[in-house]
Amino acid sequence: MSARNLSKLLFVAAAVLVAACESPAPPAEPASEPEPQGSVGDARLLDADADAGNWLMYGRTYDEHRFSPLTQIDENTVDDLGLAWHRELDTTRGLEATPIVYDGVIYTTSSWSVVYAFDAASGEQLWAYDPQVDRPRVARFICCDVVNRGVALYDNKVYVGTLDGRLVALDAKTGTPVWDVSTIDTSKPYAITGYPRIADGKVLIGNAGAEYGVRGYVSAYDALTGDRLWRTYTVPGNPELGFESDAMERAAATWHDEWWTAGGGGTVWEGIVYDPELDFVYFGTGNPTAWYRALRSDELGDNLYVASILALRASDGEYVWHFQTTPNDNWDFDATQPLMLADLDLDGRERRVIMQASKNGFFYVLDRANGEFLSGEQFVDGVTWATSLEPDTGRPIESPSAFMGAEAVIVSPGPRGAHNWNPMAFNPTLGLVYLGAKVGTQSLHAPDVEWMYDANNVNIGRDRDYDGPLVAELAAKPPPHGELVAWNPVAQRAQWRVTHPTVDSGGVLATAGNLVFQGRGDGQFIAYRASDGAKLWEFDAGTGIMAPPVTYLVDGEQYVSVMAGLGGPEGLFNVPGDGPVEFGNGRLLTFALGASASFEPRPFGHSEPPTPAITVDATPETIELGRELYGATCRRCHGTNAVAGPLPDLRYSTAGVHQQFEAIVLGGALAPLGMPAFDDLLTSDEVRAIQAYVLARAAEPE
Ligand code: CA
Repeated sequence: MSARNLSKLLFVAAAVLVAACESPAPPAEPASEPEPQGSVGDARLLDADADAGNWLMYGRTYDEHRFSPLTQIDENTVDDLGLAWHRELDTTRGLEATPIVYDGVIYTTSSWSVVYAFDAASGEQLWAYDPQVDRPRVARFICCDVVNRGVALYDNKVYVGTLDGRLVALDAKTGTPVWDVSTIDTSKPYAITGYPRIADGKVLIGNAGAEYGVRGYVSAYDALTGDRLWRTYTVPGNPELGFESDAMERAAATWHDEWWTAGGGGTVWEGIVYDPELDFVYFGTGNPTAWYRALRSDELGDNLYVASILALRASDGEYVWHFQTTPNDNWDFDATQPLMLADLDLDGRERRVIMQASKNGFFYVLDRANGEFLSGEQFVDGVTWATSLEPDTGRPIESPSAFMGAEAVIVSPGPRGAHNWNPMAFNPTLGLVYLGAKVGTQSLHAPDVEWMYDANNVNIGRDRDYDGPLVAELAAKPPPHGELVAWNPVAQRAQWRVTHPTVDSGGVLATAGNLVFQGRGDGQFIAYRASDGAKLWEFDAGTGIMAPPVTYLVDGEQYVSVMAGLGGPEGLFNVPGDGPVEFGNGRLLTFALGASASFEPRPFGHSEPPTPAITVDATPETIELGRELYGATCRRCHGTNAVAGPLPDLRYSTAGVHQQFEAIVLGGALAPLGMPAFDDLLTSDEVRAIQAYVLARAAEPE
């Protein structure tokens, strides 16, 4: 089994990207005043808070508060909330999008970067746009499901980033493409799952891929023409090719060995925010490549600017400041979680801050003008990788027990994080930030150089087959759980917490009706009282919820909408012990007071335990090899221990599928359904071993 074949595929063109921080183009033409009927321009976006009836951008307003001033639905009337309409979407994969609502139309995205426009009052579909990504090709290099977090709306256009790395502008009325540009080197395993961000006539977009070995960057495009205005990298490239900026040269001093051969990582896969006051762009960066310190940069240096929060000048993409949440990351602690802007009174002084509930378990409050660390505290119990933060700098004080060289260790949080991409909300009157936290997630890290990384140090997603005493120790720990946390960012402590039966819960909406809305992995969609966390209303969405709800008005009536569809890393890996989870067909649900529509979820899953469809002769050694190969190549989509979530559970494969097993896995026979071919990675014997393992799992008791 050769990892080098994969590496060759990924690095057909081994040259490191050179172009960066190009000369800034002249600023885009300002939106004409008054804005034409039907258009969303800069003035309307800047004043989005006053536009109570619409939800014009990802976090509703540029400060990302996800706080609606609407009060028709409030703590007293929410009891009368019912389903107004629902729209089934043609997918069982994860749905993560924030619907954008303007002038009675909802614009949202489904899996595979498909965009929809619906009538916001009736749910009638107005148009759909499928970017026709080469599904089996891109599915190979997407760590965490074929998701998309939504569109941006500007100048009568809807902007979407696609899994194959394109940025597409669509006519908002018809869904017809106006322009379509590639934002990546398609020979490398980049992908886009994040939303585009509008900033003063520009469209900002990042990408993902640090799990597979790429160099992170963010790009700005002219919203009207699609011309690229600037591109800024987050990690330095090969010094022999010259640095694109002083910031890159400074960063290079924090790396060792030939880091650029694996790309460095630090991808901006989520969380780009624009600050019109300072004209800054903020974002967090992902993990380095490779994940593990022992396999990267001679184990030395902070490795800037991975696992960091950065500010750039919006006009030209020049570096302004950075704050690294996890120096020399060792645990996949991306800093890509949502960023929120606010003005807070800290020690009698009003500060313009930026806040993040980071994957590493700390809630950070920084001065957003200069990146100064103001405060940081653990927002969940059970963080073991660091004991605390240096009071002056915010630099973490690592626990020796979490240090991982060649030895296996258990670390909390695990790679799922204490908080992930799921957006948080802020009630400015109560001064509380609401977020969905994962508490007590652990991971057993057992890296192995020979087994997990190829010659280019590219992570191929394979942990060592560790079977030492830590396996039993991990199994004996209390199961993790989820929480809705109301966090006071000034006092840096929880005001209240709601404990969930599931680890995973969705993004959050806060309203002036003293309400907080959030969905859970088991499909319950719930309204809580914002001031004390009392549960006031709930609805069974029929499938797990990860996405954040939004609220809006049509003809004077307030609606609440949410995408329901469980997938993402948790859904795909389907971690046992996470509590009840609900998979099924994805849908968009919209609620209003006095409404009483209902729906019957399409059947999903299996009512009987699996039974092997065929029998094969296989030795225990072959089945064991199959287990290891399954873990390396199949697990990310078909589930841990061959127990699947939204994708086909291979234990239930029919005799017909088993007869075609090699044709499917090596020959790409199911490519039209999105199943990649692995003929560059696996041999016939190895495929037979995987098949034997799947059949052995089907024969085991549930
Ligand atoms: Ca990551």
